[in-house]
Amino acid sequence: MPPDIRIVKVAIPCPLYGTFDYRLPALDGLTIQPGMRVRVSFGRRQLIGIIIEEVQNSDVPAEKLKSISAILDNVSLLPEDILNLLLWAARYYVHPLGDVLQTALPVQLRNNDDATPSLTEFWRVNDAHDLSADDIQQSLKRAPKQQQIYQLLKDANTADINHGLDADAFNRLTDNWRPSIKALLDKRLIESGVRPAVLTSENTSSKVVQLNSEQTEAVHAIENHAHQHAVHVLNGITGSGKTEVYLALCKSMLAANKQVLILVPEIGLTPQLTQRFLECLDTTVAVLHSAMNDRQRYAAWHAASTNQAQLIIGTRSSIFTPLPELGLIIIDEEHDGSYKQQDGFRYNARDLAILRAKNNSIPIVLGSATPSLESLNNINEQRYSVHYLKQRANKKPLPRISLVNLCNQKLHEGMAETLLSKIKQHLDQQGQVLLFINRRGFAPLLMCHDCGWTTNCLRCDAHMTFHKRRNQLHCHHCGSQRAAPEKCDECGSTNILAIGAGTERIEHYLQDTFPSTQVSRIDRDTTRNKGSLEEKLEKAHSGESGILVGTQMLAKGHDFPNITLVCVLDTDQALFSADFRASEHLAQLITQVSGRAGRAEKPGEVLIQTHHPDHPLLQTLLHSGYQAFAKTALQERKAAGLPPIRHLVLLRCESVATQAAQTFLQQAVERARQVNTTDIEIFGPLPAPMERRAGRYRYQIMLQSDQRKALHRFLSWWAPQLQQLVSARKVRWSLDVDPYDTF
Ligand code: ADP
Ligand code: ZN
Ligand code: ZN
Repeated sequence: MPPDIRIVKVAIPCPLYGTFDYRLPALDGLTIQPGMRVRVSFGRRQLIGIIIEEVQNSDVPAEKLKSISAILDNVSLLPEDILNLLLWAARYYVHPLGDVLQTALPVQLRNNDDATPSLTEFWRVNDAHDLSADDIQQSLKRAPKQQQIYQLLKDANTADINHGLDADAFNRLTDNWRPSIKALLDKRLIESGVRPAVLTSENTSSKVVQLNSEQTEAVHAIENHAHQHAVHVLNGITGSGKTEVYLALCKSMLAANKQVLILVPEIGLTPQLTQRFLECLDTTVAVLHSAMNDRQRYAAWHAASTNQAQLIIGTRSSIFTPLPELGLIIIDEEHDGSYKQQDGFRYNARDLAILRAKNNSIPIVLGSATPSLESLNNINEQRYSVHYLKQRANKKPLPRISLVNLCNQKLHEGMAETLLSKIKQHLDQQGQVLLFINRRGFAPLLMCHDCGWTTNCLRCDAHMTFHKRRNQLHCHHCGSQRAAPEKCDECGSTNILAIGAGTERIEHYLQDTFPSTQVSRIDRDTTRNKGSLEEKLEKAHSGESGILVGTQMLAKGHDFPNITLVCVLDTDQALFSADFRASEHLAQLITQVSGRAGRAEKPGEVLIQTHHPDHPLLQTLLHSGYQAFAKTALQERKAAGLPPIRHLVLLRCESVATQAAQTFLQQAVERARQVNTTDIEIFGPLPAPMERRAGRYRYQIMLQSDQRKALHRFLSWWAPQLQQLVSARKVRWSLDVDPYDTF
């Protein structure tokens, strides 16, 4: 290679492994840093790639090396620690590096050359005018809305530039405010400005919480190792005050000018948690979640990465945010499945957070009432330390859990009479009731009463769910929709039955049965519109809605003080599921939803319906609790050779024609057999539990091993081989390292 040629390795967003070599322009004094974005031509397209490193030599002959079209950034957007984390993740999850980097970058930076973050517009009172108080009053006299807005701004106004109000703040405080803002600007009573996308939180909470001894011990134990790496599991029952522990840890970190990253499963579902952090801390905050638009999200990311925001609250992908002063990571509800990305780059944000904390020599806290079996296993192996909060902070006992045996009972839309009379009893005593069923819609299927025809999805091995209010059939697996049939497709009969019950049907039945009680359904269908979830949660919180019917959306972190009865309607499906994590999920769910009962003054009660009251899982859970269940479950995983005892990798493949996917997987197995894989067991090809979905046939190969190293050595050899197979071109395939499920 001629000495005057400079070469860089660039990661490019494409499905190929590895990086690509490009020539740097011959500019004197050009300094480049890994993590800068460049525009390059790739095939026939112009793409934005990221410089990984400068190298001396290339396998590509000098005359064939393409030049970089443009260098887009003056400085690196991905500091060394993040770049290393991503390089590691690309290897570990055996995923193309370019695509890994794409996932980590804010969308705004993937598509635009310009990396200038947009600023947030805000408004504040304009004092630089010569109007007297009387003049102002006069000019607002006939405009009550303007008066209200002006007063809000007056209340918020201080010398600090951050203390005006922005659109978010107005949306929280009032509605239809924009016209008044415009009028006030015209009258020069207020002025507008811009600022970085950072919230300034003020400790406005009047509640002074004195940590109890368990909480204090946990805080001390974690703070004692504040400047070194350690994984702390905060295992506290629901309502034991885990959030107060997080807050105490945040306070001391923020006081030491450190940044704190808090990962939560889904911000939309837990507005209360974010609110609590804002209310209890004096700091600068960036919130990162999927409901923000690309510009907002990048602005918040930028504020965090330049230390303009000290507290960062975000969902899964926030783990990739550069944080120059990061001192602590907190993962709330660490067992939650939403930390695992289920398509594309299939990473687990909890696991990457632990690695990030290790690389940065900082502590990480994993909080949960029901820690994952992975974390419990790591505690057993003494890799993680654990701190228990065994008492509810308000000293209230945990609710009594009992089983309702469904066998031979008369059922009303799937609910036993004993359950219905319990609901009545609690309502009569001014209690609030939460019913939990993990099935949306009115009924899972429609069936012809004359010939047995059922509403199957044409593209999946699944029934289409009947949604009564819209009078439609929806497939929850591929999204297909059609009008509900008036008569049978097969025999023309109009005698059509709705089989089984979902949230919509339960809601109808309960509203008919308890007409004087407000029944509120909380699932994805009823909370689609902006603000509707907040409104429903508000009514649930105030007690206005006496009965809440919901899906797992309701199981997460909500604090409804008036709930006295929680009912879990369907457990049998999970007890006999093909998914190896199903029983763990069920145990977590029962424990979590049970924690929703009896949080405040009134004692709580939990009822679980099942046809299998003697099932060992339910018995262990009821009589000995989640920890005992987890112990048994870990033994079962060990016996079955499943995670977290053994390591699992799934090679999934799907194709429109059944044969193509099977051929690819068979060849993949043959390739694997060419090397010595004695440390790795290979099963398959096998059909996926749902063989056909969205018109594609799905098969998979499962790899199991005790030896993480051997498994990864093998994968890094195997994956590029798979890419070379001719049969790979006719299929979609993906590797899933540490899969969350096997569907
Ligand atoms: P968790 O996160 O474990 O479910 P929270 O932190 O939300 O529990 O606490 C439940 C309730 O108890 C909250 O209202 C919280 O303010 C209150 N609380 C927590 N710790 C204490 C304490 N030490 N003293 C008084 N109240 C507390
Ligand atoms: Zn029929
Ligand atoms: Zn379908």
